Parts: sequence; structure tokens; C-alpha cells
Amino acid sequence: METMDNEQGRKDRADQDRMRLEIDSLSQNEEFARVVVAVFMSRLDPTLEEIDDVKTAVSEAVTNAVIHGYGPEKGIVYIEASIKGKELTVIVRDEGVGIEDLKKAMEPMYTSDKSGERSGMGFSFMEAFMDKLEVDSRPGEGTTVRMKKRIGG
Ligand code: ATP
Ligand code: MG
Repeated sequence: METMDNEQGRKDRADQDRMRLEIDSLSQNEEFARVVVAVFMSRLDPTLEEIDDVKTAVSEAVTNAVIHGYGPEKGIVYIEASIKGKELTVIVRDEGVGIEDLKKAMEPMYTSDKSGERSGMGFSFMEAFMDKLEVDSRPGEGTTVRMKKRIGG
């Protein structure tokens, strides 16, 4: 029955709330992605600290996609945020070079950068500021960072 299906569809949508954003891999777009996720999560009534934590984590993941994933090449960074109950999930994906040794890359203070500008703390920040961090990467195919945080206790 159509009305019943519609009702179920509405219930499913009410249960989960999602937005998707694609940006060109330019450093100046990183701020845009961070702010959009912050506005999206505002419906969970977060504290300022929670907003800052998520913004920092998104910023680190998007910056990594831009500078390490694509580097001088141009590509698209895919950002997805969703809310289920009080839990926010953010997924940041690139189709860049990927990571050869993920275990090593995720160690605090490891950086492949030779210029001395990077401290190798991006993954550590994502881990510290979010409740859960999962990274999936394939050399030559790209990297997906999946982060979760419960908002409002
Ligand atoms: P910082 O984030 O402190 O500026 P960093 O970016 O080098 O320094 P992390 O963010 O912890 O440190 O990342 C560690 C390493 O993992 C990077 O140096 C890079 O080699 C690799 N890496 C991270 N994200 C990606 C990605 N999306 N694509 C390819 N390599 C990545
Ligand atoms: Mg980084």
C-alpha cells in the first residue's frame, strides 16, 4: 500500500539525516568543508567544544586528502556527514595516491613530508577529537577516513 510505504520512508529518513559535499582539492576549500559540517551538526545542539573538535578532525582529514592524496594533481574530495540518534558520522574520501603503510602513517609524529612543515599529528588529532576513527586506503586508489562522535552525552 503506497501510503504505508511513504510513511515507512518518512520514518527511515527521520531516523537518519545525511548530507554530501564534493569539493575540488584546493586548500581554500578546506575551510568550506569544515564549516558546512559544523552547520550540519548544529541540529544535534552541540557544545562549542564539540563543534571545535569535529571541525579540527574534518580539517585534518580534508587537508590530508588535498596535500597527500592529490598533491599537485587536481581531484575531488568527497565529504559525507550523517546523524543517527545522537551520533555524528563524517566520511572524507579521496581518489588519490593512497597510503602504502597505513600502520606507520597513523603513528603519532610520523610524516612523509620532507620539508619540515608538517608534524605528523593529523591522524592523532582525528583519533583524539572523535570517538572512533577508521581508515581504509589502497595505494593507487585512494583513502577513506570514517569518523564518529556522539554529541551531547
Ligand atoms: P600534519 O597533519 O601534522 O600536518 P601529516 O599530514 O604528515 O602532518 P598525518 O595527517 O598524521 O600527518 O598523516 C600521516 C601521513 O599519512 C602523511 O604524512 C601521509 O604520508 C599519509 N597520509 C595521510 N592522509 C593521506 C591521504 N589522504 N592520502 C595519502 N597519504 C596520506
Ligand atoms: Mg595531516
